[in-house]
Amino acid sequence: MSEASYKKTVLDPWGTTVIEDYDRLYEEFGIQPFKPLLPEMPDPNLFMRRGVIFGHRDFKRVLDAMKRKEPFAVMSGIKPTGEFHLGTLMTAREIIYFQQQGATAFYCIADVEAYEDNKIPFERSEKIAVGNVADLLALGFDPDPKRGCVYRQYTEQRVRDLSIIFGRGATLATMKAIYGERNIGLYMSALIQAGDILMPQLQDFGGPKPTVVPVGVDQDAHLRFTRDLAGKFRRKYGFVPPSSTYHKIMRGLDGSPKMSKREPMSYFTLTERPETIAKKISNAFTGGRPTIAEQRKLGGIPEACCIYEICMFQFVENDSDMVKVYHDCKSGKLLCGEHKDQATEIILNFVKAHQRKRRKLMDKARQILRVSK
Ligand code: SF4
Repeated sequence: MSEASYKKTVLDPWGTTVIEDYDRLYEEFGIQPFKPLLPEMPDPNLFMRRGVIFGHRDFKRVLDAMKRKEPFAVMSGIKPTGEFHLGTLMTAREIIYFQQQGATAFYCIADVEAYEDNKIPFERSEKIAVGNVADLLALGFDPDPKRGCVYRQYTEQRVRDLSIIFGRGATLATMKAIYGERNIGLYMSALIQAGDILMPQLQDFGGPKPTVVPVGVDQDAHLRFTRDLAGKFRRKYGFVPPSSTYHKIMRGLDGSPKMSKREPMSYFTLTERPETIAKKISNAFTGGRPTIAEQRKLGGIPEACCIYEICMFQFVENDSDMVKVYHDCKSGKLLCGEHKDQATEIILNFVKAHQRKRRKLMDKARQILRVSK
């Protein structure tokens, strides 16, 4: 590649991140590939097995704790700007996976970030968060205080205290270097996020321990910033530098590089009407050929197909089923219409069951967040 055509990747937690080549992130950002750790994982989940989780920082530390059955934590969360979609579903499933592997799990409602980045008032984000937490519970998160902690940034005093303390460890030049020129509110929310990531290591939660933060790779800046702060405040708190895993960012159903609220056909939420979801799937961009005859002859292109991606990332648990779909597509045996019908059935079965569970968990979610009806 010529120097002129080389465009540096930007990982912006508050902007639009489009990754053209994940391999370049290893070199450009020092993210480590996840694949070499896979054989050591006690019970790798679908995202790990299929390379959806492609990278990490310092995950070996967490892996060792898992193998030795020592205490470790998992921490991530959601920005309460709307209903659960496929991106937030992925993070929730990752947290639940680590909780089931023995981690104490922390799920943060990033309402300060929603205010600073998206101008969402706290009264509104509180209501959105209730639905988000009901989704999390419906997916299998265990809210037992010994195993799980769900909280709002705005009301969690320990997070706010840490952010104040961490403020002394960051200059304006550091913030600009990591996050670019942003308003002070966003810099403040980055300090709050550092508080979120390191709160599991406070004495209230059993003290310092390996902690994994599973996120989309666009959130890496927060990890780099927090790891730096963990070093600066290590003497006072004994922090273990937090680890992370990075998942790929799903393309939009319409073939766009990223799902976006501005493009309703590019994504669906878990609370949408099943008929609307079915319509979006039937209109999704595929790797199919212009005519049936061509597809039978040449086969489809699963690598370019949103239906293939959505099934592989989220909805088809069995690996050999995915391998079969790949080969049937490539050989022209499977046609897009038939495959869309299969995918719709699988997805709607999941969504309908999820919506039923979620409805029953709204009161529990209010209770956890201490929100009145
Ligand atoms: S057959 Fe399936 S995987 Fe292949 S291009 Fe069509 S929708 Fe995509």
